[in-house]
Amino acid sequence: MPHREINPYEAMQASLRVASELYGLDDALFKVFMAPTRSMIVSLPVLMDNGQWEVFTGYRVQHNLTRGPAKGGIRYDMNVTLDEVKAMAAWMTWKTAVVDVPFGGGKGGIVCDPNRLSIGEKERLTRRYIAEIMDIIGPDRDVPAQDMGTDAQTMAWVLDTYNMHVRRTENAVVTGKPLGLGGSLGRNEATGRGVLITAREAMQRLGKPLAGATVAIQGFGNVGSQAARLMHEAGARIVAVCDLKGAIRNDRGLDVHALLKHHLETGTVTGLKGAEPMDPAELLTLAVDILVPAATENQITDENAPQVRAKVIVEGANGPTTPEADAILLEHRVLVVPDILANAGGVTVSYFEWVQNRQGFYWREREVNERLVDYMTHAFQATFATTDKYKTNPRIGAYILALDRVAQAMKYRGFYA
Ligand code: GLU
Repeated sequence: MPHREINPYEAMQASLRVASELYGLDDALFKVFMAPTRSMIVSLPVLMDNGQWEVFTGYRVQHNLTRGPAKGGIRYDMNVTLDEVKAMAAWMTWKTAVVDVPFGGGKGGIVCDPNRLSIGEKERLTRRYIAEIMDIIGPDRDVPAQDMGTDAQTMAWVLDTYNMHVRRTENAVVTGKPLGLGGSLGRNEATGRGVLITAREAMQRLGKPLAGATVAIQGFGNVGSQAARLMHEAGARIVAVCDLKGAIRNDRGLDVHALLKHHLETGTVTGLKGAEPMDPAELLTLAVDILVPAATENQITDENAPQVRAKVIVEGANGPTTPEADAILLEHRVLVVPDILANAGGVTVSYFEWVQNRQGFYWREREVNERLVDYMTHAFQATFATTDKYKTNPRIGAYILALDRVAQAMKYRGFYA
């Protein structure tokens, strides 16, 4: 049940305001953080397969560049708006600061329905978009990656277009690339693995093991499906999942390997043998140990938050919980692992990919995964230490941790005027 009328940028600003007040942020810095550094809007003429030209709208927003080049995905979706991209870019500033990787925040998007584009149309659209934003991206400027509606193939076109323009190999210009083209082992599952790591830490805080815990997952894209697989392998019981076509459940635990196979073959989770269909809205209010919203923004709102019965929410998606819902969840003592921590595994391994590209030396999968555990557990501990210190909820704790890191870097640099 999407609540698109809730503006994600206003939701970001609301949390930023609360965190800044509690932290005592300098007013000048607060004003700087409230607005992105740079927003670019481009019109993209694309020759469609039917011989007609369509003009698409694309965005690239850089929220803050203090700690390093902008970093963040490119989203292909009909609901992309400038404010959504601005929100996501800001969340990337906070996310990269929470896990302490040397990037700022960026995000891009194109208003399109990726499922209705042919592969050729998608390639031409991607290339035209990259050609238009060429001047503001680059390994030391702004490094895109995948997000909703884009994948490793899209990133390969980004790499090729950029490299053709600069006339040299610059594979650190984009992350989430295919293996063999500068991609990193472990990147494809990194966001799901980060969800697993933070879910385990959250359960530990409640004094419970992840093994045997019940889990419901909203969304079965890259994040939801990888989280399902990894949490299942860690011994958790995945009792419900959904996608845009519907939801399924089995209280004894879904057969996750059969589910992944079924999803690969049919493109949906619905119709899995041994599972009952259910109302997708109901999935969010199931009495489970862990709820993983891994779809899109504004899914847990003041309307359904009072009915949420999960003990822990691990936000695989960006912005799935509205600020009003947050207050209700806090009152109901639901432990929320906020998006800027819970889904930061993706950008952390993007950082590893960028480092490997620049070194020209590639790591083993085990090294990637071990380093990811190290970064994520540190970030989790630091977030909860800040949460406890400021006697707030973990979202505001994560914002304060991030604000503090970005603000300190800005103070050293000063304002160039
Ligand atoms: N799109 C992902 C996110 O929202 C990954 C970004 C990246 O790897 O740069 O975190």
